[in-house]
Amino acid sequence: MEHIHDMIVIGGGPAGYTAALYAARAGLDVALIEKMSAGGQMAVTDTIDNYSGFDEGIPGYELGMKMQAGAERFGAVTKYGEVVSAELEGKVKNIKTSSGELHSRTVVIATGANPRELGIDREEEYVGRGVHYCAHCDGRFYRNKVVAVVGGGNSALEDALYLARLAKKVYLIHRRDSFRASKIYVDALGKSTNIEFLANSSVSELIADERVTGIRLADGRELEVNGLFVSIGRKPASELFRGQLELDAGGYIVADESTRTNIAGVYAIGDVRTKPLRQVVTAVGDGAVAVHFAEEYLAQCD
Ligand code: NAP
Repeated sequence: MEHIHDMIVIGGGPAGYTAALYAARAGLDVALIEKMSAGGQMAVTDTIDNYSGFDEGIPGYELGMKMQAGAERFGAVTKYGEVVSAELEGKVKNIKTSSGELHSRTVVIATGANPRELGIDREEEYVGRGVHYCAHCDGRFYRNKVVAVVGGGNSALEDALYLARLAKKVYLIHRRDSFRASKIYVDALGKSTNIEFLANSSVSELIADERVTGIRLADGRELEVNGLFVSIGRKPASELFRGQLELDAGGYIVADESTRTNIAGVYAIGDVRTKPLRQVVTAVGDGAVAVHFAEEYLAQCD
């Protein structure tokens, strides 16, 4: 007989490991599938300052490891591998991974979101050679150099401010003249002495040989930069479930505050779900809520 779990959680970010913790602590047989290491997007965040309880902030990677350890303390099992397909309909759901097939009565999807690309020519070719999507991961290569950041949300301003501490100069390029970012970042930007804000601007071309040496803007201006950091939001990791789960126009899995999807026994939590605020604290809340409804569902199935 094949083993059937009570719950499989896909994705080991804050949402996923919180669901695993709540499920394991409630006595459910839960396995979590993670393709790399714990923490998700949080793991590449320098310091998390807005997750309550850490009065001096905490490195994102460390918080991810703690969340994993907290769930495993109660018996949650982490299985490393990549999900290649999922059959979500029916009482037993089948999840195929790069390291085998798993079966479960409920599935919690916590796959998060990945950086959105600009979509300009040769962008992919120069990833790691001047094109970057994570300032906290790659900013250290640009000490005393000139970089550009694209975007006008919290991430872009946070990235620009972070890079301004390392680089000689930072261009912040935004397609509008007002920001989506919170006031705290906009105020800090106003005080910075080495960030030049280029409003109503967009990057149309990379100038590059072995590496990026500059960018051309849509108005024809050329800027000499050593690196370009793209920080224009993220796209949900939901493609695997297209055709089975309802997705919104942006590709987010449609689920309300109950985290229930259009398939019974399947829940979407964290950044991959339709929601107004994508933060660590809202992700962990989703994890707890999903387990609450999954327990209710499992009790009805018994
Ligand atoms: P976001 O809030 O969706 O902002 C994306 C930015 O990129 C917007 O300014 C958008 O411009 C611009 N943009 C989108 N597509 C573009 C394109 N093709 N070309 C040029 N510009 C483009 O994304 P985010 O900044 O990554 O933040 C994601 C979520 O995480 C948000 O909820 C944010 O509040 C949260 N977050 C919070 C913190 C914090 O609280 N410390 C830090 C980071 C992120 P328009 O404004 O013109 O649409």
